Amino acid sequence: APSIPLAGVVVTGAARGIGRAITELYVERGHPVLGVDLNLPPLTKGSLRLRADVASAAGRSRIARAARELGGVGVLVNNAAYQGAHGGVLDVSARGWARALNVNLSAPLLLTRDLIDLMPRGSAIVNVASVQGLFAEQGNAAYNASKGGLVNLTRAMALDLAPRGVRVNAVAPGAISTESVLQAITASANPEQTRRDYEDLHALRRLGEPREVAQVVYFLGSSEASFLTGVILPVDGGMTASFMMAGRPV
Ligand code: NAD
Repeated sequence: APSIPLAGVVVTGAARGIGRAITELYVERGHPVLGVDLNLPPLTKGSLRLRADVASAAGRSRIARAARELGGVGVLVNNAAYQGAHGGVLDVSARGWARALNVNLSAPLLLTRDLIDLMPRGSAIVNVASVQGLFAEQGNAAYNASKGGLVNLTRAMALDLAPRGVRVNAVAPGAISTESVLQAITASANPEQTRRDYEDLHALRRLGEPREVAQVVYFLGSSEASFLTGVILPVDGGMTASFMMAGRPV
């Protein structure tokens, strides 16, 4: 039986990848879901979908209106992210930097404010961070900064929302076999080698599946996790268990 006694679930970035897997899992387990994305998420039985930009105030008010129709918010999953700001500290564009910070860091804060009055005691927020919010990758400054910010924002939110009885936690996924990761592998000069390189970042020597992240998100949002708040849970096949992984196999 669903272990989330409360109203609906709002998932941002629901059209593909990890967000779609999260949406599908909640729907499968009988929760009404509002899937939000820049592109219209696939229609799943029992879910509402909305095209909206989480980084725009107008987009967020439309999300709040739809969430009210859903009957309130039992779980908010801040999953949408902008991963297109390529470059290191000396060459990332000011525009890319701003977009990454707006979508990945500011939007989870602002959307939480817009939805908080629809969230009863016992509800939960799950932020989708990244192992790249715990450690940095060369040449990926904006993404690293945005996810690092989201990690500590998660702790701040946990403290500030505790008096309202709202728990806030985050997952920090390793490399997950989503469309975007698989495309990056295919587009590389030596796809087989690139795939092995990605796999070897993890102690389990494979990529994670979107559903494996979704299951942890579901747990964090559920009453099974009722005494967890302010936690950053790596879902990374052991990548961050070792400081040697990025330097090559242990
Ligand atoms: P993705 O890029 O495949 O999908 C992200 C979705 O979010 C897209 O459908 C996109 O349209 C939507 N989106 C982007 N900006 C938006 C906005 N402003 N408003 C509304 N929707 C927006 O991403 P993914 O690989 O599935 O990753 C999902 C989350 O997991 C992200 O937060 C990402 O940073 C994180 N993550 C992914 C991996 C991975 O290996 N794929 C690893 C660690 C963390």
